[in-house]
Amino acid sequence: MRAARATIAALETELDETYRSVTELTNELVRTQEELEQLSLYDPLTGLSNRALFHDRLDRAIALSRRNNTRLAVLMMDLDRFKEINDTLGHDAGDEVLKKVAERLVGTCRESDTLARLGGDEFMAILPTTASLEGTFALAEKIAHTVEVPIALDGSFVDVGISIGIALFPEHGADSSTLFRHADQAMYEAKRLNSGYALYNLARDDQMHRRFLYASELREALERDQLKLEYQPKISLKTGHLVGVEALVRWHHPVHGLVPPGDFIPAAERTAVIKTLTEATISMGLEQVGVWSRQGLSLPVAINVSPRALHDLELPERVIGLLEHWQISTELLVLEITESALMLNLDHILEILNRFHSMGIRISVDDFGTGFSSFAYLKKLPIHEIKIDPSFIANITTNMSDVAIVQSLIYLAERLGVTVVAEGIESGPARDFLTELGCDLAQGYGIGHPMPAPKLPAWINRHLSGRPVTAGPAESMFGPFGQGA
Ligand code: C2E
Ligand code: CA
Ligand code: CA
Repeated sequence: MRAARATIAALETELDETYRSVTELTNELVRTQEELEQLSLYDPLTGLSNRALFHDRLDRAIALSRRNNTRLAVLMMDLDRFKEINDTLGHDAGDEVLKKVAERLVGTCRESDTLARLGGDEFMAILPTTASLEGTFALAEKIAHTVEVPIALDGSFVDVGISIGIALFPEHGADSSTLFRHADQAMYEAKRLNSGYALYNLARDDQMHRRFLYASELREALERDQLKLEYQPKISLKTGHLVGVEALVRWHHPVHGLVPPGDFIPAAERTAVIKTLTEATISMGLEQVGVWSRQGLSLPVAINVSPRALHDLELPERVIGLLEHWQISTELLVLEITESALMLNLDHILEILNRFHSMGIRISVDDFGTGFSSFAYLKKLPIHEIKIDPSFIANITTNMSDVAIVQSLIYLAERLGVTVVAEGIESGPARDFLTELGCDLAQGYGIGHPMPAPKLPAWINRHLSGRPVTAGPAESMFGPFGQGA
């Protein structure tokens, strides 16, 4: 009997121990499971939800809102100037910025809101049961302000901004992927307008949809020769001579008629078709320069080159190929690059511009004054001309602060030793005023609209009768880099 009791006690102890180790094992399993979950559902850098968890949460939030008849806001957020920070300060600094931004987002949103980092510098938030649109806007504004506070990094400060796109359930979509897409589109609109945040807009979406369709038709349009160039005269304010033309692309669409470049270039820039388009415009422009040359008109043509086309390190070689093909000398080609494109990828831009420069092709900086480039940086670039953005020219005869800006841009151009062009001159008084300010060249409806090439000789006769149309030596248009007109 005693023996039996002893055996039972021993068995009980053993069972106890087994039970304990099972519990331990289970606990460990739960911990591992949690760690795994953490890894697969959360962003390791910031600890916010990752894309997978975000989609899951959004699906649940939508189901809940539908059941309770409540509203829901989805915010897509993308940092401004983050790429610059990564490129100039390195990835560690970039990571630090992302962490700080995440902390600020957590501090600004409520605990019931879901915050996620989708990757890169993209963040997203779900705001359930949003009471009012005003409330959502107020939060977006608060986020923008919080993120804009300079971030301390190793004793110095960096500035980032954020662009926020807002889409609402049920107004802007009934499922997570539609809301996601629409918040994304609104975010691009916020970036485009530089407005901090933007609400998704159905009407605008129609337009975007059309633009998207255009982009997909563009390749065929190029093959079918539906793209043509118009040429806008550029004159010297000092002599009145015609010194060149800017080529502006036009799409003669078989169904929609004349489509302006603003409707298809931005969409084309998002795909590889922009490369084909850039080369096609350069080719068409050079062919026309050849035609004019044979008529005794030696006229440089300026072609707009998209930022995306500049990614291509082979572009300079292909441009040389086209110059040889049409037998045009390099000084008759000018490439226009926007100021903001210059700031995108500094090292790469410098390399590609140097190549063009060594080939003898001149570079003109378009939309100047809107891109925040610094004098120190510009000085390093082999540029030959800057074109003051029309927004500074439109009210030049009445707006004193525009006068001050234009005066300092002209002064800056002098210091850099480059030619300065005023773009968007619409009236005689504006032209006279800019001449007085010492601006070199001018372009605008007030001088000549963009026109098909065959109309140019008549324009020259009408507007410049008696004056030579090619650049005289005083213009220095064919001089070496750095000599102003
Ligand atoms: P942009 O390079 O700044 O070109 C000047 C734009 O201003 C042209 O519009 C021109 O028609 C317009 N403009 C000229 N004078 C005046 C004026 O006095 N007043 C006003 N209000 N506007 C004036 P467009 O032809 O619609 O071109 C718009 C933009 O599309 C261009 O801006 C350029 O960024 C882009 N673009 C045009 N052609 C090409 C091209 O062949 N390739 C690329 N990548 N972009 C192009
Ligand atoms: Ca231009
Ligand atoms: Ca421009």
